[in-house]
Amino acid sequence: MLPHNPSMERYHRQIILPEIGIEGQKKLEDSAVFVKAQSVESCALLLYYLAAAGIGILNCDFAEEHGLSSLIKQIGALNSGVKIQAVPAGLKNLPGDAAVRVVQGSPQYLAQSHDQPNGQWMPLIIAANRGWQGWFQVIKRPDDQGAVLPRPDHQTSIGHNMPDGGAESTFSSNLLGALAAVEVVKILLGLENCTAYGLEFDLFTMRFARYEGRKACPISIASPFLSTEIPGASPGYITTADTHQLAQSQVVVVGSGGLGSPVLYTLAQAGVGTIALVDYDRVDISNLNRQILHSETRLGLPKIDSAEIFLRELNPDLNLIKHNTSLTKDNALDIISACDVLVDCVDNLSTRYLINEACALLNKPLVEAGVNGFEGIATTIMAARSTCYQCLFPARSALDCNAKYGPEGILGPVAGVLGTIQGCEACKCLTKTGTILFDSILAYDALEAQFEIFHTEKDPDCPICAKR
Ligand SMILES: [Zn+2]
Repeated sequence: MLPHNPSMERYHRQIILPEIGIEGQKKLEDSAVFVKAQSVESCALLLYYLAAAGIGILNCDFAEEHGLSSLIKQIGALNSGVKIQAVPAGLKNLPGDAAVRVVQGSPQYLAQSHDQPNGQWMPLIIAANRGWQGWFQVIKRPDDQGAVLPRPDHQTSIGHNMPDGGAESTFSSNLLGALAAVEVVKILLGLENCTAYGLEFDLFTMRFARYEGRKACPISIASPFLSTEIPGASPGYITTADTHQLAQSQVVVVGSGGLGSPVLYTLAQAGVGTIALVDYDRVDISNLNRQILHSETRLGLPKIDSAEIFLRELNPDLNLIKHNTSLTKDNALDIISACDVLVDCVDNLSTRYLINEACALLNKPLVEAGVNGFEGIATTIMAARSTCYQCLFPARSALDCNAKYGPEGILGPVAGVLGTIQGCEACKCLTKTGTILFDSILAYDALEAQFEIFHTEKDPDCPICAKR
């Protein structure tokens, strides 16, 4: 009999990736990362994903420490093998073992916080967000630093004139957190050759751009993204009426695993009033490299109960309806009929086709995503007007639908990136705000730090949506 090795089970889905393997995983477990952030809430998702991926030591410095003890408790429950600690505020000499530094917050916070600690250089990720927009920059060598960091006296224009702290900031800071966690792993494992690169995004217009080298920053992403290209586009923000709309809405989330965790996290934080969660599974140790809602203290528990414990602490006002079952032909219409949007976070094709058909029948918006390895895709479907899942991925036979695959490798925070986008898409559907991924597939390549959007077309002979 093989010796029991909990670490192998926990990180199995990462270890089977050729880019990581047992050695790579060991390297992550032996690494320390320093995170400096404006608030605990703004970088919580980053820390959850770093802990889930198995980074051994997380040293943190928060300008605003509200919620810190709760976060430390949750991270300890998620992965007791990770050491998380707050370093004394303003400490100049960082713990010497840190291999990467991440600084996350508003552009104004970053302008005051990028000073390099005395006497040591370590690769740096700066991550800023405001409103719907955000950018991160990875700097591996000191030579590249000057060109990209905002100077303290330099007024940044990112997200200029946008209010801070609304649901839109939740989306952008969560996306940044998941993206930054991916970049930390890439730096620790040497998976990126470029020494200075970054990504800017706008979740309102769904524009994403990677850039390399010494780009003069801080990027004024407000101007290129909200330019004459989209006449009349406004930066938009979640209004009081939108917030009320979110509180009155019901979202069905099918699955609380790799995608479901960040979807539920984002929806609960954004203030969605009612979530109906469908999941029949129980928490297993091999879930925990990516399923940040669950924890090693809740192994064996039904996932809906484990998710409820986490979500109650995050948002005590949330009305959570629990369906401890898989979605089937017999219960799908009942469960879906009361919702305003459905978010599909399942891991099998037959349920995806069933959900697509049920949402088309009931005329409900459906937010889809899938992840594998270092890649993921997302799309939003309204069968009456847009490409549906069947148009995109025609099921040719029952055999296709029921095909069973072995577990695929996945880097945990890649699911975080796609799940955050799903949560954001669902809220845009609910508030009828911004550009939604109808007739479009968003594809994320984590190794390249790149997003692309592909236009899709309805199949005129689609058996599900053609006659709607
Ligand atoms: Zn179709």
